Amino acid sequence: MRILVPLACLAALSLGACAVTPPAAGVAVSPPATPQAARAPVTILISIDGFRPDYLDRGITPDLSRLAARGVRAAMRPSFPSKTFPNHWAIVTGLRPDRNGIVSNNMEDPAGKRAKFSMATDDPWWWNAAPPLWVDAEAAGIRSAAMFWPGASVAYGGAREDEWPNDVLGGARPDDWIPYGEAVDESQRVDTIIDWLRRPQATRPTFLTLYFEEVDTAGHRYGPDDARTNAAVAKVDRAIGYLTTELAKLGQPANIVVVSDHGMTPVTADQVIPLSDLASEADGRAVETGVFASFQPLPGREDALAASLSRPRDHVQCWPKGQIPARFHYGSNPRIPAWLCLADPGWRIMSKPPTRPDGGEHGYDNDAPDMRALFIANGPAFRRAKTLPLFDNVDVYALIRRVIGLPQASGKDGKLAPVEGALR
Ligand code: AMP
Ligand code: ZN
Ligand code: ZN
Repeated sequence: MRILVPLACLAALSLGACAVTPPAAGVAVSPPATPQAARAPVTILISIDGFRPDYLDRGITPDLSRLAARGVRAAMRPSFPSKTFPNHWAIVTGLRPDRNGIVSNNMEDPAGKRAKFSMATDDPWWWNAAPPLWVDAEAAGIRSAAMFWPGASVAYGGAREDEWPNDVLGGARPDDWIPYGEAVDESQRVDTIIDWLRRPQATRPTFLTLYFEEVDTAGHRYGPDDARTNAAVAKVDRAIGYLTTELAKLGQPANIVVVSDHGMTPVTADQVIPLSDLASEADGRAVETGVFASFQPLPGREDALAASLSRPRDHVQCWPKGQIPARFHYGSNPRIPAWLCLADPGWRIMSKPPTRPDGGEHGYDNDAPDMRALFIANGPAFRRAKTLPLFDNVDVYALIRRVIGLPQASGKDGKLAPVEGALR
């Protein structure tokens, strides 16, 4: 559905006759050089992958720190597992991974013909548990645009043809979106957002997403405390500064919500649990290894696998999927393998010794302090100089619904109450 603009209004768009709401405080908005329509605020949901909230206190993020100081700041608890795809999908569906279907970055589904999911999978079948925010926004006539977000290139509700060329038929995507590519640099991403906002009102998005992977990439490669990770943090901060400057030039007020999907903790080559210490290949197949390992028993070897994984070990805990502690909210989805072994922060379960030098990882217990995620909200909808206590990342879903003008959805894991204090 599109917003209908009255004809007289369309004709007069460039003269500013279609102004709806005066610009409000928040992002510093300087008066435009020539008279133009006072723009209603847009909402921009930004994810900085792997940005640990304490990076804000390193004195290297003038622009993010300014948004936080003049807005709302909090640390968020990611959903388990504290990995990229499960958490981005949790934020835009209001459901934790157990219910949103993206239970890991890599997964299998016992029911489907589709054997494996990886981060490149855009077959809607994997993503169909719940509509993301932009799909509900579109249905309500709120135009949306995604400058990357995991799942934004998926035609929600569509179907991939079984036969070559395996086209996806039907389904809903944001009005504007771009296939994911790391080659699109930070300022090109910001330029794309600004170009979209330069359009006439009828085709201009009012709910936008923006995503940066650079801080996560550096965090993995060098660890969270390395100067090169700080350089990536500073680079993304500059992109945020560029965004706010360009918004101001455009006279475009914005409610900006900056989140991350998880934090990052240092890992070293000597803190490794050999996969073979947990289970024999004769008893079970490892579906995933790393900060956690998941296993499916081989036929007839269920008891042997259970006996092996039930033995207590240092630095790792294993559970059958039905007995994973309740606070993880994880274990009922068919895509979760029969057994989960979770390493302590800093440890990894690996089939071979690591080849890379020390670095960083995430995916651990979502309540571990180093896994905490960033939250900043700034703009006319939000309070100033406010710090919120820790909340769950699924609550961001409820907050965004409120800010973009969608009614609250029932049956979600995310709730408005823990984040309501962010609102003006
Ligand atoms: P993780 O393995 O959990 O650290 O995932 C982070 C990686 O996800 C980054 O290196 C990104 O390049 C990648 N990524 C983020 N968004 C997308 C996307 N839409 N499609 C494919 N990969 C993505
Ligand atoms: Zn991530
Ligand atoms: Zn990562």
